[in-house]
Amino acid sequence: MNQAVILAGGLGTRLTSRLHGRPKPLIEIGDKPLLQHQLEWLARNNFRNVILLVSYQADAIANFISAADFSNLCIELIEDRIPRGTAGAVLAAFEHLEDQFLVVYGDTMLDVDLDRFISFHDRHQDAAVSIFVHPNDHPRDSDLVEVNQDGRVLRIWPYPHQENALLPNLVNAALYIARKAHLKEFINNPPDQILDFGKHVFPQLLSQSKDIYAYRSPEYIKDCGTPERVDKVTADYFSGVISASCLKNKQAAIFLDRDGTINIENGYITSPEQLDLLPGAATAIKQLTNSGWCVFVVTNQPVIARGEASTEQLRAIHYRLDQLLAQHGAYIDDLVYCPHHPDSGFRGEVSALKLNCLCRKPGTLMIDQLIEKYHIDRSLSWFIGDTTVDIETAHRSHLKSICVRTGQAGQDGRFQVSPTRWADSLADAAVYLCQNPYAPISL
Ligand SMILES: [Zn+2]
Repeated sequence: MNQAVILAGGLGTRLTSRLHGRPKPLIEIGDKPLLQHQLEWLARNNFRNVILLVSYQADAIANFISAADFSNLCIELIEDRIPRGTAGAVLAAFEHLEDQFLVVYGDTMLDVDLDRFISFHDRHQDAAVSIFVHPNDHPRDSDLVEVNQDGRVLRIWPYPHQENALLPNLVNAALYIARKAHLKEFINNPPDQILDFGKHVFPQLLSQSKDIYAYRSPEYIKDCGTPERVDKVTADYFSGVISASCLKNKQAAIFLDRDGTINIENGYITSPEQLDLLPGAATAIKQLTNSGWCVFVVTNQPVIARGEASTEQLRAIHYRLDQLLAQHGAYIDDLVYCPHHPDSGFRGEVSALKLNCLCRKPGTLMIDQLIEKYHIDRSLSWFIGDTTVDIETAHRSHLKSICVRTGQAGQDGRFQVSPTRWADSLADAAVYLCQNPYAPISL
């Protein structure tokens, strides 16, 4: 696949004070226009064919493209003054589209490793669309995506959301790979009717039982629709945060145990209301994220194998975790769990999950998979937990470790191991890690 469609038709009313008469795609981010950042990113990722959909000041955009040197890209500019919505605009150019194509919103600054996104998409040959998703610090104002363990989209929850609704912090970040054949039915949409991907096309595909897959990544993608956002993105560009978070580069990670480390140890948690955060845990996670770490949760959940909670109940418990963290502007980049348990004899147990697996901690499979998926550098990464099982997992995974004195406080006696360090709590551990020279942003 080497075709990208950029939706560059916005009027940019909110950016008037910054545009000085230029069209919105040419808003300056640092030393060059946003459109130039996007085209250079596509070229870096070996894209060759770009369709640029514009509505306003097409001449100014055409002049910019011919004056700049994009000789390795074939750019086709299509002017369409009819407001059709995001999907309507793309599908109006249907005959120009290849069998598979990338959709980029013209007001987003991003640096995504497209090789990884494309290979994810290639693994789901039946999917109509793959959408890029990530958690953010304001999920209440965002369109949220509910997925199963394989990443298949179950439902899309458009903003606004009901007060206290238990929903995942997983946001549609407006970057898609689409298969043209699955979108054909939408080309007969009346031209005076707005057709958006998020509001109309995706829900309709799901209602027809067509597959949409969600590609989860911590890479940088932010919209630049207001002067404040332009300033934030410009600062991130100059600090190097945007390019550093691209998964072509090695990342530093913090792997966290769940019960007793993030939330209060409360027996086996089998329903969302049993989950409460430890003091300072949310702020600690936010500090770690802001210091440049990917933050992951790695947890054994034998409640599934023992039949004490269903996969759906466990999903709801983790939505509650997302919700409590979001109240502090914190989020986790990914959460993985082992549903297995080796011992039989529990009433209602799920016999298919009663096995000696490689994922149950101190097994390292969950960590190994996260390291592969997110291109993690083990030497820059840490595991934080409250049991010797966690510390043993860290040893076997070649990670530095911190044992916290919350939860079981390292007193479980399962393994004879010592952590790299002790800390009173996750909050205490985060303070230590965010000091130089450990924090990745200080590198
Ligand atoms: Zn397992």
